[in-house]
Amino acid sequence: MPSKALLHVANAFHHRLKFSEIGISGSGRLAVDGSRALLHVRNLRDRFVDSVMDGIEEWKDHLITAAARFADAHSLEVDGDRIDADRIIVATGSRPALPDAWRPCEEHVLTTDSLFDEVALPQRIAVIGLGPAGLEMSQALARLGVKVVGIDPKMSMGGLTSPHLRRIANDLIAAEFELVESEARPINASAEGIAISADDRRWNVDKVLLSVGRVPNTDGLGLENAGVNLGGDGSPTVNPRTMRIEGTNIYAAGDVLGQRAILHEAVDEGRIAGYNAAREQDQSFERRPPLAITFCAPNIAIVGGSRASLDTEGPVFAAGLASFAGQGRAIIDGENRGAAEIYLERNSGRLLGAELVAPQGEHLAHFLGGMLACKARLEDILQVPIYHPVLEEGLRSALKDAASRLQDDRLVIDFMRCEDAPAGAAIGAD
Ligand SMILES: Cc1cc2nc3c(=O)[nH]c(=O)nc-3n(C[C@H](O)[C@H](O)[C@H](O)COP(=O)(O)OP(=O)(O)OC[C@H]3O[C@@H](n4cnc5c(N)ncnc54)[C@H](O)[C@@H]3O)c2cc1C
Repeated sequence: MPSKALLHVANAFHHRLKFSEIGISGSGRLAVDGSRALLHVRNLRDRFVDSVMDGIEEWKDHLITAAARFADAHSLEVDGDRIDADRIIVATGSRPALPDAWRPCEEHVLTTDSLFDEVALPQRIAVIGLGPAGLEMSQALARLGVKVVGIDPKMSMGGLTSPHLRRIANDLIAAEFELVESEARPINASAEGIAISADDRRWNVDKVLLSVGRVPNTDGLGLENAGVNLGGDGSPTVNPRTMRIEGTNIYAAGDVLGQRAILHEAVDEGRIAGYNAAREQDQSFERRPPLAITFCAPNIAIVGGSRASLDTEGPVFAAGLASFAGQGRAIIDGENRGAAEIYLERNSGRLLGAELVAPQGEHLAHFLGGMLACKARLEDILQVPIYHPVLEEGLRSALKDAASRLQDDRLVIDFMRCEDAPAGAAIGAD
């Protein structure tokens, strides 16, 4: 939530760049007060935390605020006490990774946890690691006037796997701040800031935002005392439909698993684990279609199967492409950038997935996510009324493009043929 609040402030300020073009003058006099922007972000963060804490109030008699550690599979040591339980759920989350190389310069290193506690914005920052969080924060800081260099050897661009969309995203992001595809290393730190290197080049910056992944909070938890084997990354492995660590009385949910580290998945997992931990027999639950959103502008989203995951299954799908460059509503909004790719199963026309770099892509992704959850086919989706002028028209263009590749003659123009012939349709009929 604090990262989204910072993005909101940054995007609001960024919009001033289009004001004179649309007839609003005076935008050159606007300025960012970094301290107030960060205070606003903290206020919102605290407000959201308070509302979660209010929810806990109802059952606070059952809450112990302390670190727990497994003594064995059925008991925990908590604050010097021992708590016995038939079933135990581990939902200890994760924390930002801090590789050893950066420890000597820790004073100049921020993480996505500590960034929002800064009282002022830095003038120059290097963002190391451009996964979703790093990408969002790089763009937000750049839009707030911070000089940003973003460095990552992989440049995942929100996990996009379509080469065409990756190129589009890369070009759009690179137009806003410096992108370097390489591994970064610290050189030295001083009162003036920190020097870093990558790709045989050197940058002097005030701060580094290290966003190079997260570490599961399992160290110190004593899971080995409970007979649980951890993977190389320190995460336990569960059956994703029951959330049980196989062969144990222990369940795990959320970011500690390092799998689907997003909030709605963590909530689902917690509910499944809680349901099963309270019953004799585990129930398997269907998981929702995958949905990943990076809230940079334009938004990047992957719904259902990515292009690469479907490619590995052979040429079973038809891809439809549409650009937002000439899309009416996107032009009106001054956001006509990006494209959508939609993947359909070739035989059935069933929606398999989509990748988007699109204005308001978060909402388009949810539209497609709803269709995926209903296991909709192309002909079902084309029945959805789409008002004019809206960005969803761009999705329809991609669907029609995919339809043309399916060569299914049941799909006439945008909608389905009726089964019955209309009365008097045949000329000359009695
Ligand atoms: C910068 C950033 C941006 C994000 N943006 C999004 C987004 O846009 N959308 C989205 O869906 N998700 C986003 N996420 C991910 C989302 O925040 C997480 O998926 C979610 O908070 C995970 O919840 P959790 O309960 O598993 O872990 P947490 O929220 O980390 O909770 C774990 C809790 O366990 C406690 N704990 C740890 N060890 C112990 C112990 N030994 N004993 C007792 N308690 C312990 C911790 O104190 C903590 O309170 C973002 C995350 C980050 C870092």
